[in-house]
Amino acid sequence: MTGAYILSINMFVAALFAVAFSVVASTNPTVRGARWLAAGYGIGVLDVALEFSLPWLVHPDLAVFSIYVAYLAALSCGVIGVATHYGASPPTRAILAIWILAAGLIPAMIGLPYGSGPRSLLYQTPYVCLQLLMTWVVLRSSRQMALDKLLATVSFLVAGTYLVKVAVAWRIGIASGPQGYLSSDYAAISQTLGAVFLIALALVLLLVIMRDTTLEMVVRSETDPLSGLLNRRGFTRHAERLVRKAKRTGLPLSLVTIDLDRFKAINDGFGHAAGDMVIADFAGLLAQSVDGSDLVARMGGEEFAILLPGRGAEEGGRIAEDIRLAILQELPRRDGLPDTVTASFGVAELANMDQLSDLSRKSDAALYKAKTMGRDRVSIALQ
Ligand code: GH3
Ligand code: MG
Ligand code: MG
Repeated sequence: MTGAYILSINMFVAALFAVAFSVVASTNPTVRGARWLAAGYGIGVLDVALEFSLPWLVHPDLAVFSIYVAYLAALSCGVIGVATHYGASPPTRAILAIWILAAGLIPAMIGLPYGSGPRSLLYQTPYVCLQLLMTWVVLRSSRQMALDKLLATVSFLVAGTYLVKVAVAWRIGIASGPQGYLSSDYAAISQTLGAVFLIALALVLLLVIMRDTTLEMVVRSETDPLSGLLNRRGFTRHAERLVRKAKRTGLPLSLVTIDLDRFKAINDGFGHAAGDMVIADFAGLLAQSVDGSDLVARMGGEEFAILLPGRGAEEGGRIAEDIRLAILQELPRRDGLPDTVTASFGVAELANMDQLSDLSRKSDAALYKAKTMGRDRVSIALQ
């Protein structure tokens, strides 16, 4: 009865993971795919329950068929859940093709003796396909960190366990009939393999979900909702990294600090909502004016910053001047918004002994100078 013991552990573990994925899905609505994974492990519980019924059934054919289909459904939910989590559209056509293959194999399986190697090979083939499909979904996703590679590896190994089951069936057979499954050595081996690898798969999936939730929360806490740019917190974290890199490589680094001119008058004359729209439009213009390696942030109110790795004060000044001119030409004209918006710019370059705070202080001083000299201009801090 070892098989039955392991089977009951499997059922319990599948239920635990079904609950765990449901809790993850309901406590954080931004987590994608967890509901499908909960459904997959939930169907897994049903699958094991059906296996328990086998010894008592006089005509177990329907149960055997249901077990086959239930496991297909559980794995399909797993594939859909993983694809959804990775932001990919579920590979429904491939899943459908595997279901058609699974249905097509049934007549051939019926013709083979229960528990024989060849029948086991046909039985496990759709599972291998679905598990390889899950592996492929992870491998082709845009996220390729260590955990994603681990997930792909574990998923690939799970595909391998189905083939190991075939090999075991070929060597020692399963049982003479479904009623003998539970007490067979095959069931003990098969259920142990299942327990170990499906726990491993579920744990790695939970880790991936936890990592992505944390990453998403960090991004959200560092993004300004109105402009979609980095906020001060995000800017500071990334900028400190770029300052360290500039010091290490000896490449120049410059900071442009920007403040919209007479913004209080815009708010007073057109309303706060119009002011918000100007801020959002200006942020869009800034974002399209820089390279992917540059940092753009809304530091608060109508103040912005651009950090330019690899560029000194002179080039920073040129970029600032281009943006200043682009405001006139490219800032969208909208009803209910001012016709002219201008901004003042302060530019400073990182000196040898500077920290980020020194660089900010220098570009702020340059910005202040631009304001006092009449606004709508670029001022470069002297080295
Ligand atoms: P200056 O040319 O000297 O910069 O003049 P200013 O009027 O822009 O002065 P200052 O920068 O001190 O004022 C900024 C104003 O921006 C004050 C505040 O009411 C407004 N403001 C700050 N944050 C927001 C915001 O999120 N939305 C809107 N609409 N207004 C904001
Ligand atoms: Mg200001
Ligand atoms: Mg201002």
